[in-house]
Amino acid sequence: MKLIALPAFSDNYIWLLQNDRHALVVDPGDSAPVLAWLREHPSVQLDLILVTHHHADHVGGLAELVAQTGASVCGPALEKMPVDGLGLQEGDPLEWHGLHFKVLDVPGHTLGHIAFWAQPEGQDPLLFCGDTLFSGGCGRLFEGTPAQMLDSLDRLSALPGNTRVCCAHEYTLSNLKFAVAVDPTNMPLRHYAQACAELRQQQQPTLPVALSTELAINPFLRSRHPQVTAAVRQRNTPDQAEALDDVSIFAALRSWKNEF
Ligand code: ZN
Ligand code: FE
Repeated sequence: MKLIALPAFSDNYIWLLQNDRHALVVDPGDSAPVLAWLREHPSVQLDLILVTHHHADHVGGLAELVAQTGASVCGPALEKMPVDGLGLQEGDPLEWHGLHFKVLDVPGHTLGHIAFWAQPEGQDPLLFCGDTLFSGGCGRLFEGTPAQMLDSLDRLSALPGNTRVCCAHEYTLSNLKFAVAVDPTNMPLRHYAQACAELRQQQQPTLPVALSTELAINPFLRSRHPQVTAAVRQRNTPDQAEALDDVSIFAALRSWKNEF
């Protein structure tokens, strides 16, 4: 099974998974890059489209792709899609040519946001997580609460460490600038930032990234780590500092990033 990142707009990736003569795509905000790939691979048929959430940069290509290919669409049960499709939520079964997906509810960026995890035979698992988890960062809280996002990230963190995390945006370098400011003594983070900078210089994607790497470097997955907690406390006034619980620390970290 082949995993391909199709760049779209200025910093989106439309993930394409090819299984022999079949392909699926995730979050096609634009139909053009997908249709161009399909033209270059005339023996491959697009037969499934997965959608993580309702934002335009993730669903904008749906109508055109369905019209051109007849692919079926699976998206979040709790959000409105621009085309007819199957609404999914946590625990719903989803199978694609022998590959079984686990659907996870990951509210925070949007309220109905879902993620898809699967383990292709003989390969590391895959996670399509839309705008929930980014390399070195996480999605903005447009609809959900910090408590919901922290819980969603905790649940993604519990997936196998060798999971290949397929985020919907190439935000890595700017996320890592913030991560280094929060967690300056984290050496794996420093090394990872250097490696990502080199990849971007060569116009290569920094994704997918192993979940185990994210657990070591991403401040939003490490908000309970003493180093990260201390940095957040230091930024808040002393009288608030002691009262901060896990969710407040996470919320303060997220607002810090918004202002960074
Ligand atoms: Zn979004
Ligand atoms: Fe997005």
